[in-house]
Amino acid sequence: MEVEGPADRVQAFVEAIPRERPPLAAIDRIEQREVPALGERAFRIRSSRGDPSRFTRISPDVATCEECRRELFDPRDRRYRYPFINCTNCGPRFTILRDIPYDRPNTTMAAFPMCSECEREYHDPLDRRFHAQPNACPRCGPHVWFEKSGDSVPLAEREEAIALARRWLVEGCILAIKGLGGFHLACDARNGEAVARLRRRKRRSEKPFAVMVADLNWARHFCHVSEGEARALLDYRRPIVLLDRRQGVSEPIAEEVAPGNRTLGLFLPYTPLHELLFDPSQPDFLPALVMTSGNLSEEPIAIGNEEARRRLGPLADGLLLHNREICTRCDDSVIRVEPDGAPTPIRRSRGYAPDPIRFHRRLPSVLAVGAELKNTICLTREEYAFPSQHIGDLKNAEAYGFFRHTIDYFRRLFRIDPGWVAYDLHPDYLSTRYALEESGLPGIGIQHHHAHIVALLAEYGLEEPIFGVSLDGTGYGLDGAIWGGEFLIADPVEFRRWGHLRYFPLIGGDQAVLEPLRVAYALAERAFPDGVPEALIRRIGEERAALFKRMIVRGVNCPPTSSMGRLFDGISALIGVCERVSYEAQAAIELEHLAEDVDALEAYPFSWDQESPAQLDPCSIVRAVWEDLQRGTPRARIAGRFHETIAQAICQACLRAREETGIRTVGLSGGVFQNRRLLRRTHALLEAEGFRVLRHHKVPPNDGGIALGQAYSAALQVERKTAET
Ligand code: ZN
Ligand code: ZN
Ligand code: FE
Repeated sequence: MEVEGPADRVQAFVEAIPRERPPLAAIDRIEQREVPALGERAFRIRSSRGDPSRFTRISPDVATCEECRRELFDPRDRRYRYPFINCTNCGPRFTILRDIPYDRPNTTMAAFPMCSECEREYHDPLDRRFHAQPNACPRCGPHVWFEKSGDSVPLAEREEAIALARRWLVEGCILAIKGLGGFHLACDARNGEAVARLRRRKRRSEKPFAVMVADLNWARHFCHVSEGEARALLDYRRPIVLLDRRQGVSEPIAEEVAPGNRTLGLFLPYTPLHELLFDPSQPDFLPALVMTSGNLSEEPIAIGNEEARRRLGPLADGLLLHNREICTRCDDSVIRVEPDGAPTPIRRSRGYAPDPIRFHRRLPSVLAVGAELKNTICLTREEYAFPSQHIGDLKNAEAYGFFRHTIDYFRRLFRIDPGWVAYDLHPDYLSTRYALEESGLPGIGIQHHHAHIVALLAEYGLEEPIFGVSLDGTGYGLDGAIWGGEFLIADPVEFRRWGHLRYFPLIGGDQAVLEPLRVAYALAERAFPDGVPEALIRRIGEERAALFKRMIVRGVNCPPTSSMGRLFDGISALIGVCERVSYEAQAAIELEHLAEDVDALEAYPFSWDQESPAQLDPCSIVRAVWEDLQRGTPRARIAGRFHETIAQAICQACLRAREETGIRTVGLSGGVFQNRRLLRRTHALLEAEGFRVLRHHKVPPNDGGIALGQAYSAALQVERKTAET
């Protein structure tokens, strides 16, 4: 920006920028230099010039602002009830962008020439819509219509289409609704029958659905909402916020939305179309809609109209469509707010991507390809890391295509030419294969659990070693075993395995992930050398138990694992909470929720041995859990004691490592730390012992955060290599 005037006025202007910046502006730093005064008389925004050595930030999509919302419901406004109202403070950004620079011709709004009135606003520096690229009105902009599945002749258009959609929803229908970063499948969240039908059609048996509620008051009606959680719900990024369900409310959310789960993922309307669907002035008002991503189980979310007709038509009764194209897919983000008000991201996507995460200094450019499940990729340039939106499970062919596209797109968007590619050591991950066989870049392999910890180091801008507690379900270990209960002394470049959960056999490999009862058997087989208890064998079935035994003895398809996620699964199955799962970590989640109402309890006996790496033997814990169960102790108490045991075992490891190394900083990462009881209790114990505790606030503790860790590690390794030569 060039500013002219008397020196004191110019200085005052510069000082006012951070204070009076527009709500969405982010200021990294302000640099000043003097230029000759030109005697300019007006303020102009010049058109963007393409300069390949530079890059600009690209704004994520932003929820409808208060002013636009007011205009939306103001009968005197020319955009009254117009579902695409937006301004410079809100509206679509990343998802409508085709190319840089971010100017209207490079967005999917290029198809809609502005009318004279919109044009005037767009060029008026005093107007809220000055240079708002998606600016539009009912005369010149996109519009909505409603179709019955299987028939692309619209049943209704514009205002009527939304009214019709609402009516169908009230009657229990399932609709596909085009959103910002993709389609949602929607139905009345209080209608158990409709939700159950949606589950059958989507082939998603129990994994919780997200629910959009009309406003904050309705969120408070269905769930407990703390102040921090209210702020998160109202945040312009509008993430799905995981909240505790309120018991005994009127017109409750159907149990089918999140079976066996005491939390609900709620979010508020974030587009004008959503606002109109939830219009409180309408007689058929709906306070809560299931709004789950428009896809079949693990496929990527649908974004195109034709694609939606084809893929979602069979799942939905009708489609609410519009003609503003979505260019980039972006799923809803998910967060949790901890009691101290800090967020834990669970999925960092719409509203956050493609905002960069800032390193504490400039680093070489690298590409990181992430893990396999919950994949994200990450590119770095200067002091910025650009983690992508949520990509998904790469084993799905369409998700893999999306993964490849995202890498190319991010490279182009942020003009990044990485010199190296960072990948997970798992040889069968498709991301790893892409890195080694297709990327054409020299590779740097990063061990999975190390990457989890390094993601934390990146968030905090640390380069020195910390004690990293990396607990998750599965990750490829340096010895070829399945790691997952790892205690590492780690800096961004190197790590040493200080300790781990003692290996136990994973009967049938991945099969044991789906059937925690197999894990329970394997644990019991170790814990009771004189024979697995009869009661457990009866539950498994004599024949299958004998088969499991043979598999273990002969070592057939029984890879050793130190997975903490599996230990939680196994205990859950052992005490009969959850013996088979239909989604990842279900058994562990149900175990956590069961322990909800019990206070901190005494731990079961546990011990770390004196080996190096030190090992935590699960046997004494398993025996104690079983004895408690036989004594008739309530399962909630057992679940509570088990959580306490693991928290204390973690704390003890940290204390021992501190004695040995003097390290006083502990990082908690890995998917197991999505367990809030474990996270909070461990955090409290460690703080009481005087540790500095690091946890995730910017990327998820699960595998969605892996790419950032890989990127930070690789960038520092490259820097070191370059310094050596
Ligand atoms: Zn606005
Ligand atoms: Zn217009
Ligand atoms: Fe992991």
